Amino acid sequence: MDSPSQPALQTLRLTMLGSGTSMGVPSLGCPCAVCHSGDPQDKRTRPSILLAAGEKNIVIDTSPDFRQQALRAGMRRLDAVIYTHGHADHIMGLDDIRPFNLKQRGAIPVYANAQTLAVLRRTFAYIFDDAPTLSTIPAVDLREITGPFEAAGVRFQPVPARHGNMDVLGFRFGRAAYLTDFSEIAPASMELLRGLDDLILDALRDKPHPMHSTVANSVEIVRELAPKRAWFTHISHDLPHGETNARLPASVQLGHDGLSFEVRLREPMRVYRGPEKWKEDGSIAGRRSALAIGNFDGVHLGHQSILRRVNEYARTTGAVGTAVTFDPHPLKILRPEHAPLLLSTLEQRLGWMEESGLEAAVVLPFTAELAQVGAADFVAQMLAGALRVERIFVGDNFRFGHKHAGDVALLERLAPKYGYEVEIVPPFTLDGEPVSSTAVRRAVSEGRVEDAARLLGRPYALSGHVVTGTGTGGREVVPTLNLAFEQELPPAQGVYATEARVGGRWHRAATNVGVRPTFNGSGLTVESNLFDFNERVTSGEMEVRFRKRIRGEKKFASAAELKAQIARDLDQVRGFFEERVPG
Ligand SMILES: [Zn+2]
Ligand SMILES: [Zn+2]
Ligand SMILES: [Zn+2]
Repeated sequence: MDSPSQPALQTLRLTMLGSGTSMGVPSLGCPCAVCHSGDPQDKRTRPSILLAAGEKNIVIDTSPDFRQQALRAGMRRLDAVIYTHGHADHIMGLDDIRPFNLKQRGAIPVYANAQTLAVLRRTFAYIFDDAPTLSTIPAVDLREITGPFEAAGVRFQPVPARHGNMDVLGFRFGRAAYLTDFSEIAPASMELLRGLDDLILDALRDKPHPMHSTVANSVEIVRELAPKRAWFTHISHDLPHGETNARLPASVQLGHDGLSFEVRLREPMRVYRGPEKWKEDGSIAGRRSALAIGNFDGVHLGHQSILRRVNEYARTTGAVGTAVTFDPHPLKILRPEHAPLLLSTLEQRLGWMEESGLEAAVVLPFTAELAQVGAADFVAQMLAGALRVERIFVGDNFRFGHKHAGDVALLERLAPKYGYEVEIVPPFTLDGEPVSSTAVRRAVSEGRVEDAARLLGRPYALSGHVVTGTGTGGREVVPTLNLAFEQELPPAQGVYATEARVGGRWHRAATNVGVRPTFNGSGLTVESNLFDFNERVTSGEMEVRFRKRIRGEKKFASAAELKAQIARDLDQVRGFFEERVPG
Protein backbone atom coordinates (compact mmCIF):
# COMPACT_ATOMS: atom_id res chain seq x y z
CA MET A 1 0.00 0.00 0.00
CA ASP A 2 1.24 3.52 -0.60
CA SER A 3 1.81 5.95 2.23
CA PRO A 4 0.05 9.30 2.47
CA SER A 5 2.19 12.12 1.11
CA GLN A 6 3.47 14.84 3.43
CA PRO A 7 0.42 16.91 4.35
CA ALA A 8 0.62 20.43 2.98
CA LEU A 9 0.69 23.27 5.48
CA GLN A 10 -2.88 23.96 6.58
CA THR A 11 -2.57 27.21 8.52
CA LEU A 12 -0.15 29.94 9.38
CA ARG A 13 -0.13 32.45 12.20
CA LEU A 14 -0.36 36.10 11.28
CA THR A 15 0.93 38.73 13.71
CA MET A 16 0.56 42.42 13.09
CA LEU A 17 4.04 43.72 13.88
CA GLY A 18 3.05 47.35 13.32
CA SER A 19 -0.26 49.11 12.69
CA GLY A 20 0.71 52.79 12.48
CA THR A 21 1.17 55.35 9.78
CA SER A 22 4.58 56.40 8.42
CA MET A 23 5.53 58.59 11.41
CA GLY A 24 4.21 56.12 13.97
CA VAL A 25 1.89 56.87 16.89
CA PRO A 26 2.77 58.64 19.14
CA SER A 27 4.26 60.89 16.56
CA LEU A 28 7.33 62.84 17.73
CA GLY A 29 6.55 66.08 19.55
CA CYS A 30 2.77 65.80 19.07
CA PRO A 31 0.62 67.05 21.95
CA CYS A 32 -2.62 65.34 20.81
CA ALA A 33 -4.75 63.07 22.99
CA VAL A 34 -4.06 59.88 21.00
CA CYS A 35 -0.31 60.47 21.09
CA HIS A 36 -0.66 60.80 24.90
CA SER A 37 -3.20 57.99 25.33
CA GLY A 38 -2.71 55.42 28.07
CA ASP A 39 -4.26 52.71 25.87
CA PRO A 40 -1.45 50.40 24.71
CA GLN A 41 -3.40 49.83 21.49
CA ASP A 42 -2.87 53.49 20.64
CA LYS A 43 0.90 52.81 20.44
CA ARG A 44 1.40 52.07 16.76
CA THR A 45 4.73 51.19 15.22
CA ARG A 46 5.20 51.33 11.46
CA PRO A 47 3.21 48.88 9.33
CA SER A 48 4.37 45.30 8.85
CA ILE A 49 3.11 41.76 9.41
CA LEU A 50 4.77 38.48 10.36
CA LEU A 51 3.57 35.17 8.93
CA ALA A 52 4.72 32.12 10.88
CA ALA A 53 4.33 29.08 8.63
CA GLY A 54 5.36 25.98 10.56
CA GLU A 55 8.98 26.63 11.56
CA LYS A 56 9.41 29.37 8.98
CA ASN A 57 8.90 33.10 9.30
CA ILE A 58 7.99 35.51 6.53
CA VAL A 59 7.64 39.25 7.00
CA ILE A 60 5.78 41.61 4.71
CA ASP A 61 7.81 44.85 4.80
CA THR A 62 10.67 45.72 7.16
CA SER A 63 9.66 48.95 8.83
CA PRO A 64 12.07 51.33 10.62
CA ASP A 65 10.78 49.62 13.80
CA PHE A 66 11.66 46.12 12.53
CA ARG A 67 14.25 45.33 15.20
CA GLN A 68 11.92 46.18 18.10
CA GLN A 69 9.04 44.41 16.40
CA ALA A 70 11.07 41.22 15.87
CA LEU A 71 12.19 41.27 19.51
CA ARG A 72 8.63 41.82 20.72
CA ALA A 73 7.33 38.96 18.55
CA GLY A 74 10.15 36.64 19.70
CA MET A 75 11.30 35.98 16.12
CA ARG A 76 14.02 33.33 16.10
CA ARG A 77 14.57 33.18 12.35
CA LEU A 78 13.62 34.84 9.09
CA ASP A 79 13.03 32.92 5.87
CA ALA A 80 11.65 35.51 3.46
CA VAL A 81 10.93 39.22 3.15
CA ILE A 82 8.17 40.43 0.85
CA TYR A 83 7.78 44.11 0.00
CA THR A 84 4.58 45.96 -0.81
CA HIS A 85 6.39 49.05 -2.12
CA GLY A 86 9.51 51.12 -1.60
CA HIS A 87 8.40 53.87 0.78
CA ALA A 88 10.76 54.46 3.70
CA ASP A 89 8.26 53.40 6.37
CA HIS A 90 8.13 49.94 4.72
CA ILE A 91 11.78 49.22 3.90
CA MET A 92 14.12 51.02 6.32
CA GLY A 93 14.46 48.03 8.68
CA LEU A 94 16.19 45.92 6.01
CA ASP A 95 19.59 46.47 7.63
CA ASP A 96 18.30 44.72 10.75
CA ILE A 97 18.08 41.32 9.10
CA ARG A 98 21.86 40.85 9.59
CA PRO A 99 21.61 38.76 12.80
CA PHE A 100 19.41 36.30 10.91
CA ASN A 101 21.99 36.12 8.09
CA LEU A 102 24.67 35.27 10.63
CA LYS A 103 22.56 32.77 12.55
CA GLN A 104 21.20 31.04 9.47
CA ARG A 105 24.48 31.37 7.52
CA GLY A 106 22.83 32.48 4.32
CA ALA A 107 21.18 35.14 2.24
CA ILE A 108 17.47 35.79 2.80
CA PRO A 109 15.14 35.78 -0.22
CA VAL A 110 13.58 39.20 -0.80
CA TYR A 111 10.51 39.48 -3.05
CA ALA A 112 9.35 42.75 -4.61
CA ASN A 113 8.15 44.19 -7.90
CA ALA A 114 10.68 45.73 -10.30
CA GLN A 115 10.04 49.28 -9.13
CA THR A 116 10.58 48.38 -5.46
CA LEU A 117 13.72 46.37 -6.28
CA ALA A 118 15.12 49.51 -7.94
CA VAL A 119 14.38 51.53 -4.79
CA LEU A 120 16.10 48.89 -2.62
CA ARG A 121 19.22 48.92 -4.82
CA ARG A 122 19.38 52.70 -4.62
CA THR A 123 18.49 53.13 -0.94
CA PHE A 124 20.73 50.31 0.25
CA ALA A 125 23.54 50.84 -2.26
CA TYR A 126 26.08 49.54 0.29
CA ILE A 127 24.41 46.11 0.07
CA PHE A 128 24.60 45.95 -3.69
CA ASP A 129 27.72 47.90 -4.72
CA ASP A 130 30.11 44.97 -4.08
CA ALA A 131 32.55 47.38 -2.43
CA PRO A 132 34.86 45.70 0.08
CA THR A 133 33.74 46.28 3.66
CA LEU A 134 34.89 45.27 7.13
CA SER A 135 31.40 45.45 8.64
CA THR A 136 28.56 43.02 8.14
CA ILE A 137 25.98 43.96 5.57
CA PRO A 138 22.64 42.27 4.88
CA ALA A 139 22.82 39.25 2.56
CA VAL A 140 19.77 39.17 0.32
CA ASP A 141 18.66 37.21 -2.67
CA LEU A 142 16.44 39.54 -4.73
CA ARG A 143 13.50 37.98 -6.57
CA GLU A 144 11.20 39.98 -8.77
CA ILE A 145 7.47 39.47 -8.34
CA THR A 146 5.77 39.10 -11.72
CA GLY A 147 2.79 36.96 -10.71
CA PRO A 148 1.76 34.42 -8.05
CA PHE A 149 4.83 33.06 -6.26
CA GLU A 150 5.85 30.80 -3.40
CA ALA A 151 7.95 32.03 -0.47
CA ALA A 152 9.03 29.74 2.39
CA GLY A 153 6.45 27.18 1.24
CA VAL A 154 3.50 29.58 1.18
CA ARG A 155 1.75 30.65 -2.02
CA PHE A 156 1.21 34.37 -2.46
CA GLN A 157 -1.14 36.02 -4.89
CA PRO A 158 -0.03 39.62 -5.57
CA VAL A 159 -2.95 42.06 -5.53
CA PRO A 160 -1.98 45.19 -7.50
CA ALA A 161 -3.29 48.51 -6.17
CA ARG A 162 -2.72 52.25 -6.65
CA HIS A 163 -1.05 54.30 -3.89
CA GLY A 164 -1.50 57.86 -5.16
CA ASN A 165 0.30 57.78 -8.50
CA MET A 166 2.31 54.70 -7.64
CA ASP A 167 1.76 50.96 -8.33
CA VAL A 168 1.99 48.92 -5.15
CA LEU A 169 1.25 45.33 -4.19
CA GLY A 170 -1.06 43.81 -1.64
CA PHE A 171 -0.92 40.05 -1.07
CA ARG A 172 -3.39 37.26 -0.65
CA PHE A 173 -2.25 34.07 1.11
CA GLY A 174 -4.93 31.40 1.61
CA ARG A 175 -7.99 32.94 3.19
CA ALA A 176 -6.35 36.22 4.25
CA ALA A 177 -5.04 39.30 2.46
CA TYR A 178 -2.89 42.28 3.44
CA LEU A 179 -3.24 45.63 1.68
CA THR A 180 -1.39 48.44 3.40
CA ASP A 181 -0.89 51.73 1.56
CA PHE A 182 -3.41 52.16 -1.20
CA SER A 183 -5.80 54.80 -2.43
CA GLU A 184 -7.57 52.68 -5.03
CA ILE A 185 -8.15 48.99 -5.79
CA ALA A 186 -9.04 48.24 -9.43
CA PRO A 187 -11.98 45.88 -10.14
CA ALA A 188 -9.66 43.07 -11.30
CA SER A 189 -7.86 43.20 -7.96
CA MET A 190 -11.16 43.26 -6.05
CA GLU A 191 -11.94 39.90 -7.67
CA LEU A 192 -8.78 38.46 -6.10
CA LEU A 193 -10.10 39.42 -2.67
CA ARG A 194 -13.36 37.47 -2.64
CA GLY A 195 -14.05 34.67 -0.17
CA LEU A 196 -11.64 35.87 2.53
CA ASP A 197 -11.73 35.09 6.22
CA ASP A 198 -9.52 38.04 7.16
CA LEU A 199 -8.69 41.22 5.30
CA ILE A 200 -6.16 43.75 6.62
CA LEU A 201 -6.41 47.07 4.83
CA ASP A 202 -5.23 50.65 4.92
CA ALA A 203 -7.46 53.18 6.72
CA LEU A 204 -5.33 56.18 7.56
CA ARG A 205 -7.96 58.49 9.06
CA ASP A 206 -11.36 60.06 8.31
CA LYS A 207 -10.02 63.05 6.34
CA PRO A 208 -9.24 62.29 2.69
CA HIS A 209 -5.58 61.78 1.72
CA PRO A 210 -4.27 61.55 -1.86
CA MET A 211 -2.22 58.40 -1.13
CA HIS A 212 -4.35 56.52 1.40
CA SER A 213 -7.75 55.04 1.96
CA THR A 214 -9.99 56.56 4.61
CA VAL A 215 -12.13 54.86 7.26
CA ALA A 216 -15.31 55.45 5.24
CA ASN A 217 -13.74 54.23 2.00
CA SER A 218 -12.31 51.11 3.59
CA VAL A 219 -15.59 50.31 5.34
CA GLU A 220 -17.17 50.50 1.89
CA ILE A 221 -14.57 48.06 0.47
CA VAL A 222 -15.19 45.66 3.35
CA ARG A 223 -18.92 45.87 2.67
CA GLU A 224 -18.39 44.92 -0.93
CA LEU A 225 -15.89 42.10 -0.33
CA ALA A 226 -17.63 40.77 2.80
CA PRO A 227 -14.66 38.99 4.43
CA LYS A 228 -15.47 37.32 7.75
CA ARG A 229 -13.36 39.89 9.57
CA ALA A 230 -11.49 43.03 8.55
CA TRP A 231 -8.72 44.92 10.32
CA PHE A 232 -7.46 48.40 9.57
CA THR A 233 -3.79 49.31 9.49
CA HIS A 234 -1.51 52.27 8.67
CA ILE A 235 -3.54 54.18 11.26
CA SER A 236 -2.77 57.82 12.09
CA HIS A 237 -3.13 59.61 15.42
CA ASP A 238 -6.54 60.89 14.28
CA LEU A 239 -8.16 57.60 15.31
CA PRO A 240 -8.34 56.71 19.02
CA HIS A 241 -8.56 52.90 19.28
CA GLY A 242 -11.58 52.39 21.55
CA GLU A 243 -13.73 55.25 20.26
CA THR A 244 -13.10 54.38 16.63
CA ASN A 245 -13.91 50.70 17.10
CA ALA A 246 -17.16 51.64 18.82
CA ARG A 247 -18.41 53.37 15.67
CA LEU A 248 -17.21 50.74 13.17
CA PRO A 249 -19.44 47.91 11.87
CA ALA A 250 -19.16 44.70 13.90
CA SER A 251 -16.92 42.83 11.44
CA VAL A 252 -14.36 45.66 11.17
CA GLN A 253 -11.86 46.71 13.83
CA LEU A 254 -8.74 48.81 13.98
CA GLY A 255 -5.74 46.51 13.98
CA HIS A 256 -3.12 46.97 16.67
CA ASP A 257 0.49 46.01 17.27
CA GLY A 258 0.59 42.40 18.41
CA LEU A 259 -2.80 41.41 16.97
CA SER A 260 -2.45 37.75 16.05
CA PHE A 261 -4.66 35.10 14.47
CA GLU A 262 -4.58 31.87 12.49
CA VAL A 263 -4.99 32.01 8.72
CA ARG A 264 -6.39 29.05 6.80
CA LEU A 265 -4.22 28.51 3.76
CA ARG A 266 -6.50 26.43 1.69
CA GLU A 267 -9.12 27.98 -0.54
CA PRO A 268 -12.65 26.60 -0.16
CA MET A 269 -13.44 24.02 -2.84
CA ARG A 270 -15.82 25.33 -5.49
CA VAL A 271 -18.87 23.18 -6.13
CA TYR A 272 -20.72 23.31 -9.43
CA ARG A 273 -24.00 21.71 -10.42
CA GLY A 274 -23.29 20.72 -14.00
CA PRO A 275 -20.06 21.00 -16.02
CA GLU A 276 -21.00 24.24 -17.80
CA LYS A 277 -20.93 26.07 -14.48
CA TRP A 278 -17.35 24.92 -14.00
CA LYS A 279 -16.32 26.36 -17.33
CA GLU A 280 -18.10 29.67 -16.77
CA ASP A 281 -16.33 30.49 -13.49
CA GLY A 282 -13.87 33.34 -13.97
CA SER A 283 -11.35 31.86 -11.54
CA ILE A 284 -11.12 28.73 -13.71
CA ALA A 285 -11.05 30.76 -16.91
CA GLY A 286 -8.81 29.32 -19.58
CA ARG A 287 -7.39 26.49 -17.44
CA ARG A 288 -7.75 22.80 -18.08
CA SER A 289 -8.74 20.16 -15.55
CA ALA A 290 -7.04 17.30 -13.74
CA LEU A 291 -10.05 15.06 -13.39
CA ALA A 292 -11.26 12.21 -11.21
CA ILE A 293 -14.71 10.82 -11.82
CA GLY A 294 -16.94 8.44 -9.88
CA ASN A 295 -19.53 8.02 -7.16
CA PHE A 296 -16.94 8.28 -4.37
CA ASP A 297 -19.31 6.78 -1.80
CA GLY A 298 -17.52 7.01 1.54
CA VAL A 299 -14.40 8.63 -0.03
CA HIS A 300 -12.38 5.63 1.23
CA LEU A 301 -8.60 5.13 1.01
CA GLY A 302 -8.86 4.01 -2.64
CA HIS A 303 -10.72 7.20 -3.60
CA GLN A 304 -8.30 9.21 -1.50
CA SER A 305 -5.31 7.80 -3.38
CA ILE A 306 -6.86 8.90 -6.70
CA LEU A 307 -7.67 12.37 -5.35
CA ARG A 308 -4.14 12.64 -4.02
CA ARG A 309 -2.73 12.00 -7.52
CA VAL A 310 -5.13 14.58 -8.97
CA ASN A 311 -3.93 17.14 -6.43
CA GLU A 312 -0.25 16.39 -6.96
CA TYR A 313 -0.67 16.78 -10.70
CA ALA A 314 -2.75 19.95 -10.34
CA ARG A 315 -0.22 21.52 -7.97
CA THR A 316 2.69 20.98 -10.35
CA THR A 317 0.92 21.96 -13.58
CA GLY A 318 -1.64 24.61 -12.61
CA ALA A 319 -4.53 22.47 -13.84
CA VAL A 320 -7.79 22.69 -11.88
CA GLY A 321 -7.94 19.66 -9.55
CA THR A 322 -11.54 18.57 -10.04
CA ALA A 323 -13.73 15.62 -9.03
CA VAL A 324 -16.86 14.79 -11.00
CA THR A 325 -19.50 12.92 -9.06
CA PHE A 326 -23.11 11.95 -9.54
CA ASP A 327 -26.23 12.71 -7.56
CA PRO A 328 -28.26 10.62 -7.09
CA HIS A 329 -26.25 7.40 -7.41
CA PRO A 330 -26.75 6.20 -11.04
CA LEU A 331 -28.17 2.83 -9.94
CA LYS A 332 -30.99 4.64 -8.14
CA ILE A 333 -32.19 5.68 -11.62
CA LEU A 334 -31.06 2.69 -13.66
CA ARG A 335 -31.83 -0.27 -11.39
CA PRO A 336 -33.30 0.99 -8.12
CA GLU A 337 -33.72 -2.55 -6.81
CA HIS A 338 -29.94 -3.02 -7.08
CA ALA A 339 -28.92 0.38 -5.77
CA PRO A 340 -26.56 0.03 -2.80
CA LEU A 341 -27.32 1.58 0.57
CA LEU A 342 -25.02 4.58 0.62
CA LEU A 343 -22.34 5.13 3.24
CA SER A 344 -22.34 8.90 2.88
CA THR A 345 -24.42 11.89 1.92
CA LEU A 346 -23.47 14.18 -0.95
CA GLU A 347 -22.50 16.86 1.61
CA GLN A 348 -20.12 14.43 3.32
CA ARG A 349 -18.54 13.42 0.03
CA LEU A 350 -18.01 17.06 -0.93
CA GLY A 351 -16.57 17.77 2.52
CA TRP A 352 -13.99 14.99 2.22
CA MET A 353 -13.13 16.07 -1.32
CA GLU A 354 -12.49 19.56 0.01
CA GLU A 355 -10.30 18.17 2.79
CA SER A 356 -8.25 16.31 0.18
CA GLY A 357 -7.31 19.68 -1.32
CA LEU A 358 -9.31 19.69 -4.55
CA GLU A 359 -10.01 23.06 -6.12
CA ALA A 360 -13.39 22.13 -7.58
CA ALA A 361 -16.10 19.49 -7.65
CA VAL A 362 -18.77 19.06 -10.29
CA VAL A 363 -22.01 17.36 -9.29
CA LEU A 364 -23.76 15.83 -12.29
CA PRO A 365 -27.48 15.40 -11.61
CA PHE A 366 -27.95 11.81 -12.77
CA THR A 367 -31.11 11.60 -14.87
CA ALA A 368 -32.61 9.12 -17.31
CA GLU A 369 -31.44 11.54 -19.99
CA LEU A 370 -27.82 11.51 -18.84
CA ALA A 371 -27.98 7.71 -18.75
CA GLN A 372 -28.70 7.77 -22.49
CA VAL A 373 -25.52 9.66 -23.37
CA GLY A 374 -23.14 7.29 -25.14
CA ALA A 375 -19.63 6.86 -23.79
CA ALA A 376 -17.89 8.62 -26.71
CA ASP A 377 -20.35 11.52 -26.52
CA PHE A 378 -19.76 11.74 -22.77
CA VAL A 379 -16.03 12.17 -23.40
CA ALA A 380 -16.62 14.70 -26.20
CA GLN A 381 -19.26 16.83 -24.46
CA MET A 382 -18.49 16.56 -20.75
CA LEU A 383 -14.85 15.66 -20.27
CA ALA A 384 -13.15 17.25 -23.28
CA GLY A 385 -15.83 19.87 -24.02
CA ALA A 386 -17.13 21.43 -20.83
CA LEU A 387 -14.40 20.33 -18.42
CA ARG A 388 -11.42 20.75 -20.78
CA VAL A 389 -9.72 17.67 -19.39
CA GLU A 390 -5.93 17.69 -19.51
CA ARG A 391 -5.41 14.46 -17.60
CA ILE A 392 -8.01 12.03 -16.28
CA PHE A 393 -7.22 9.77 -13.30
CA VAL A 394 -9.14 6.48 -13.17
CA GLY A 395 -8.97 3.01 -11.71
CA ASP A 396 -8.43 0.29 -14.33
CA ASN A 397 -12.01 -1.01 -13.85
CA PHE A 398 -13.62 2.38 -14.53
CA ARG A 399 -16.84 2.17 -16.61
CA PHE A 400 -19.01 4.99 -17.89
CA GLY A 401 -21.63 6.07 -20.41
CA HIS A 402 -24.77 4.41 -21.75
CA LYS A 403 -24.93 0.73 -20.77
CA HIS A 404 -21.46 1.13 -19.21
CA ALA A 405 -19.94 0.80 -22.67
CA GLY A 406 -17.14 3.25 -21.86
CA ASP A 407 -13.94 1.92 -20.29
CA VAL A 408 -10.27 2.80 -19.92
CA ALA A 409 -9.49 1.47 -23.41
CA LEU A 410 -12.04 3.87 -24.93
CA LEU A 411 -10.67 6.78 -22.89
CA GLU A 412 -7.20 5.98 -24.18
CA ARG A 413 -8.39 5.63 -27.77
CA LEU A 414 -10.04 9.07 -27.70
CA ALA A 415 -7.13 10.75 -25.89
CA PRO A 416 -5.15 11.86 -28.98
CA LYS A 417 -8.26 13.26 -30.63
CA TYR A 418 -9.00 15.57 -27.69
CA GLY A 419 -5.44 16.05 -26.47
CA TYR A 420 -5.74 14.68 -22.93
CA GLU A 421 -3.84 11.99 -21.04
CA VAL A 422 -5.15 9.00 -19.09
CA GLU A 423 -3.45 8.05 -15.85
CA ILE A 424 -4.46 4.70 -14.42
CA VAL A 425 -4.20 4.78 -10.64
CA PRO A 426 -3.41 1.28 -9.34
CA PRO A 427 -6.00 -0.23 -7.00
CA PHE A 428 -5.39 0.68 -3.39
CA THR A 429 -5.01 -2.50 -1.36
CA LEU A 430 -4.96 -3.30 2.34
CA ASP A 431 -3.63 -6.75 3.32
CA GLY A 432 -3.83 -7.72 -0.34
CA GLU A 433 -7.51 -6.80 -0.67
CA PRO A 434 -8.52 -3.89 -2.91
CA VAL A 435 -10.34 -1.18 -0.96
CA SER A 436 -13.84 -0.59 -2.38
CA SER A 437 -17.14 0.96 -1.32
CA THR A 438 -18.63 -2.55 -1.50
CA ALA A 439 -16.07 -3.86 0.99
CA VAL A 440 -16.82 -0.95 3.35
CA ARG A 441 -20.58 -1.54 3.07
CA ARG A 442 -20.11 -5.22 3.88
CA ALA A 443 -18.00 -4.41 6.94
CA VAL A 444 -20.51 -1.84 8.21
CA SER A 445 -23.54 -4.04 7.66
CA GLU A 446 -21.83 -6.87 9.53
CA GLY A 447 -20.94 -4.61 12.44
CA ARG A 448 -17.18 -4.83 11.72
CA VAL A 449 -16.76 -1.12 12.27
CA GLU A 450 -13.04 -1.41 12.99
CA ASP A 451 -12.52 -2.96 9.54
CA ALA A 452 -14.67 -0.23 8.01
CA ALA A 453 -12.51 2.41 9.70
CA ARG A 454 -9.33 0.85 8.26
CA LEU A 455 -10.76 0.94 4.73
CA LEU A 456 -12.13 4.47 5.09
CA GLY A 457 -9.11 5.95 6.84
CA ARG A 458 -11.50 7.29 9.53
CA PRO A 459 -14.22 5.80 11.74
CA TYR A 460 -17.55 5.11 10.07
CA ALA A 461 -20.04 7.75 11.19
CA LEU A 462 -23.74 8.48 11.03
CA SER A 463 -24.84 12.09 11.18
CA GLY A 464 -28.09 13.99 11.31
CA HIS A 465 -30.01 15.55 14.14
CA VAL A 466 -31.20 14.69 17.62
CA VAL A 467 -34.78 13.51 17.85
CA THR A 468 -36.90 12.87 20.87
CA GLY A 469 -37.38 9.14 21.16
CA THR A 470 -40.33 7.35 22.68
CA GLY A 471 -38.85 8.23 26.03
CA THR A 472 -38.92 4.64 27.17
CA GLY A 473 -35.19 4.34 27.50
CA GLY A 474 -35.00 7.67 29.26
CA ARG A 475 -37.56 6.85 31.91
CA GLU A 476 -36.71 3.29 32.62
CA VAL A 477 -33.04 2.73 32.00
CA VAL A 478 -30.42 5.38 31.21
CA PRO A 479 -30.70 8.79 29.55
CA THR A 480 -30.02 8.58 25.81
CA LEU A 481 -29.99 10.79 22.73
CA ASN A 482 -31.63 9.45 19.58
CA LEU A 483 -30.09 10.21 16.20
CA ALA A 484 -32.16 10.67 13.04
CA PHE A 485 -29.37 9.86 10.57
CA GLU A 486 -29.07 10.89 6.93
CA GLN A 487 -26.92 8.02 5.67
CA GLU A 488 -28.62 4.93 4.28
CA LEU A 489 -26.54 2.24 5.94
CA PRO A 490 -26.53 1.86 9.73
CA PRO A 491 -24.11 -0.68 11.25
CA ALA A 492 -25.50 -4.10 12.21
CA GLN A 493 -27.76 -4.05 15.23
CA GLY A 494 -25.97 -4.18 18.53
CA VAL A 495 -24.11 -2.09 21.07
CA TYR A 496 -21.04 -0.05 20.13
CA ALA A 497 -18.33 2.01 21.74
CA THR A 498 -18.74 5.34 19.97
CA GLU A 499 -17.93 9.01 20.08
CA ALA A 500 -20.86 11.37 19.73
CA ARG A 501 -20.70 15.03 18.74
CA VAL A 502 -23.39 17.20 20.25
CA GLY A 503 -23.30 20.98 20.45
CA GLY A 504 -19.95 20.96 18.62
CA ARG A 505 -18.19 18.76 21.24
CA TRP A 506 -17.23 15.11 21.19
CA HIS A 507 -18.18 12.77 24.02
CA ARG A 508 -17.42 9.12 24.54
CA ALA A 509 -20.60 7.12 24.39
CA ALA A 510 -22.28 3.72 24.24
CA THR A 511 -24.61 3.49 21.27
CA ASN A 512 -27.33 0.94 20.66
CA VAL A 513 -28.36 0.31 17.06
CA GLY A 514 -31.60 -1.63 17.21
CA VAL A 515 -35.32 -1.94 16.90
CA ARG A 516 -36.13 -1.78 20.62
CA PRO A 517 -37.07 -5.44 20.95
CA THR A 518 -37.65 -5.33 24.66
CA PHE A 519 -40.30 -2.66 24.60
CA ASN A 520 -41.97 -4.01 21.47
CA GLY A 521 -41.17 -0.88 19.56
CA SER A 522 -40.71 -0.70 15.80
CA GLY A 523 -38.29 1.10 13.47
CA LEU A 524 -34.53 1.28 13.72
CA THR A 525 -33.08 3.52 16.40
CA VAL A 526 -29.58 4.79 17.07
CA GLU A 527 -29.56 5.67 20.74
CA SER A 528 -26.47 6.96 22.48
CA ASN A 529 -25.68 7.20 26.14
CA LEU A 530 -23.08 9.96 26.39
CA PHE A 531 -20.57 9.73 29.22
CA ASP A 532 -19.98 12.81 31.36
CA PHE A 533 -22.88 14.62 29.76
CA ASN A 534 -25.92 15.71 31.71
CA GLU A 535 -27.53 18.30 29.48
CA ARG A 536 -31.06 17.83 28.24
CA VAL A 537 -30.85 17.97 24.46
CA THR A 538 -33.89 17.45 22.25
CA SER A 539 -32.75 18.97 18.95
CA GLY A 540 -29.68 20.10 17.00
CA GLU A 541 -26.94 18.41 14.99
CA MET A 542 -25.44 15.14 16.07
CA GLU A 543 -22.82 12.76 14.71
CA VAL A 544 -21.88 9.30 15.98
CA ARG A 545 -18.52 7.69 15.15
CA PHE A 546 -18.48 3.92 15.55
CA ARG A 547 -15.29 2.58 17.15
CA LYS A 548 -16.01 -1.00 18.24
CA ARG A 549 -18.94 -3.38 18.45
CA ILE A 550 -19.43 -4.61 22.01
CA ARG A 551 -22.22 -7.13 21.38
CA GLY A 552 -25.12 -7.99 19.06
CA GLU A 553 -28.72 -7.16 19.88
CA LYS A 554 -30.50 -9.32 22.43
CA LYS A 555 -34.04 -9.64 23.68
CA PHE A 556 -34.54 -9.42 27.40
CA ALA A 557 -37.28 -10.92 29.53
CA SER A 558 -37.61 -7.91 31.79
CA ALA A 559 -36.58 -4.31 32.20
CA ALA A 560 -34.44 -5.37 35.16
CA GLU A 561 -32.49 -7.83 33.03
CA LEU A 562 -31.99 -5.16 30.35
CA LYS A 563 -30.80 -2.72 32.98
CA ALA A 564 -28.22 -5.21 34.25
CA GLN A 565 -26.97 -5.85 30.70
CA ILE A 566 -26.69 -2.12 30.01
CA ALA A 567 -24.55 -1.70 33.12
CA ARG A 568 -22.22 -4.44 31.80
CA ASP A 569 -22.20 -2.79 28.32
CA LEU A 570 -21.23 0.55 29.78
CA ASP A 571 -18.39 -1.10 31.71
CA GLN A 572 -17.14 -2.71 28.51
CA VAL A 573 -17.35 0.53 26.55
CA ARG A 574 -15.44 2.39 29.28
CA GLY A 575 -12.90 -0.44 29.24
CA PHE A 576 -12.49 -0.01 25.48
CA PHE A 577 -11.67 3.68 25.83
CA GLU A 578 -9.41 3.20 28.86
CA GLU A 579 -7.24 0.66 27.05
CA ARG A 580 -6.57 3.20 24.35
CA VAL A 581 -3.78 5.71 24.59
CA PRO A 582 -5.37 9.02 25.63
CA GLY A 583 -5.89 11.46 22.79
ZN1 LIG B 1 3.26 53.53 4.36
ZN1 LIG C 1 -0.65 63.09 17.73
ZN1 LIG D 1 3.53 54.22 1.13
